Amino acid sequence: MDELMLDGNAIAGLLQEVFAVEMTTAIGACGSCGTGGPVGAVHVYRGAGIVLRCPHCGNTLAKIVKSDSRVWIDLTGIRTLEVTV
Ligand SMILES: [Zn+2]
Repeated sequence: MDELMLDGNAIAGLLQEVFAVEMTTAIGACGSCGTGGPVGAVHVYRGAGIVLRCPHCGNTLAKIVKSDSRVWIDLTGIRTLEVTV
């Protein structure tokens, strides 16, 4: 495991703020390998923004950049996202 890598639970607060539902238990399917799993289990890399990667194939699932007043979210690498409402 990379020392800069965390798991999806590390950004639970940010995801809750953006999506207004519990996201760590949401089930996402990778747009590359198709494997599904909880968002809390994805690999998270932090730098200028946050990058979520598939723990199975390394595909970039999502990129999140946050300023004081805005959030930019790229979900290109996620095939589907299933949330409990
Ligand atoms: Zn994958």
